[in-house]
Amino acid sequence: MSDDILALDAKHVWHPFTQAATAAPALHAVRGQGAVIETADGKQYVDLVSSWWVNLHGHANPVIARAVAEQAGTLEQAIFAEFTHAPAARLAAKICAQLPGDLDRVFYSDDGSTAVEVAMKMARQYWGNMGQDRRVYVGFDGGYHGDTVGAMSLGRTSGYFGAWESMLFPVEIAPFPHTWDGDDTIEAREAAALADFDAILDRNQGQIAAIIIEPLIQGAAGMRLCRPEYLRAVAERAKAAGTLLILDEVMTGFGRTGAVFACQKAGITPDMICLSKGLTGGFLPMAMTVTRDFIYQAFLGQDVSRAFLHGHSYTANPLGCAAGLASLELLLGAECQARIQAIEAIHRARLDRMAGLAAVSKPRLCGTMAAFDLPNGEAGAKLKLIFRERGLLLRPMGNVLYLLPPYCMNDGALHHAWDIIEDEVSKISGADPCCASRKSSGPWMTNSVI
Ligand code: PLP
Repeated sequence: MSDDILALDAKHVWHPFTQAATAAPALHAVRGQGAVIETADGKQYVDLVSSWWVNLHGHANPVIARAVAEQAGTLEQAIFAEFTHAPAARLAAKICAQLPGDLDRVFYSDDGSTAVEVAMKMARQYWGNMGQDRRVYVGFDGGYHGDTVGAMSLGRTSGYFGAWESMLFPVEIAPFPHTWDGDDTIEAREAAALADFDAILDRNQGQIAAIIIEPLIQGAAGMRLCRPEYLRAVAERAKAAGTLLILDEVMTGFGRTGAVFACQKAGITPDMICLSKGLTGGFLPMAMTVTRDFIYQAFLGQDVSRAFLHGHSYTANPLGCAAGLASLELLLGAECQARIQAIEAIHRARLDRMAGLAAVSKPRLCGTMAAFDLPNGEAGAKLKLIFRERGLLLRPMGNVLYLLPPYCMNDGALHHAWDIIEDEVSKISGADPCCASRKSSGPWMTNSVI
């Protein structure tokens, strides 16, 4: 059999979110170090999307690699319905210590979608165990929560799921008043959004199993920010309506918004929180759904059917937990916290400059995540290939160009990436006739505390 990796890939491998008939061929990655991935032809790519938002401390980070290797030589897996082990217990305790209130109980799963799916199933059964048949979920316009059926149903307005429309179950969709939309003031738009949200609560009294939202920023919707004020209003209303509030922090968790978790930055305590992506620093697929104590208590009893009869083969895999512990320790260290601040400051300064370019609109910032709009999706697709040529891995979502770098990236490397972005976007600004008539976007948006 040939050992030509690209040929084997072309013949046998099916890549996610890719139209293989038209996409540029996959790059053959051979090693990673820091923010850089090197390919077999010796080229280097700066991973400005943290490999689908998972990598925190750099590729092949030696501290995490050592923790995983040591764990692999000790215990690689143990059926979690029978056993516990130190990495799972310690990681759960460490995460709960970081979370607000009595978010004290961790249910492990494998990825962001399953963390959300678990939360949805738990919410439904929680109410069943409490003697109430609550079937309604409330999601938010544009929200994305993953690719399993429950998560897709919740994210049905994200625009990703047309092929499976008939598989999805109905959910209520509330407005997400993102910070730049429309001509009204943000306060007026939030008030209108809350009126719609109230109407949903009113017409579903006693029926809502849970309200589920991406806090502070919707990722796959196009890095759309909302203000903490709106989240706090949603949380207050959820409480007043006597239903459960679930935060999907799959993307926002682990420092992305500047705080360890977005709920801390927003000043709210949900009833459940979904975590994945950065949980293992990008080493292994793993997720958790963390619940408040009263939810866990509702599943206890003599009757087995009260229990949460759900699980996955690799639940709480020890290698993933070991990676999670090592990654969390690095994240909480002074060095990483300083990098998070530094990345936000550089993004802010560079977005300020970008805001002057005709091809740039709606520059926005949330912690270590920076984004702006290009004139159209074609510009995004074209720039993606140009950036590839110049050694930057960026994946515009349609016309939204965003950076979400690993925290290990140093100032010089991040500025270098921004220099290339500024250079290429300047060229578009000059060349694209549709830009000539565009006015600059004015003051730009952040929900970061300034
Ligand atoms: N929730 C949010 C907010 C996400 O951004 C994503 C993925 O991008 C998911 C859930 C799904 O996570 P996964 O792709 O790991 O299943």
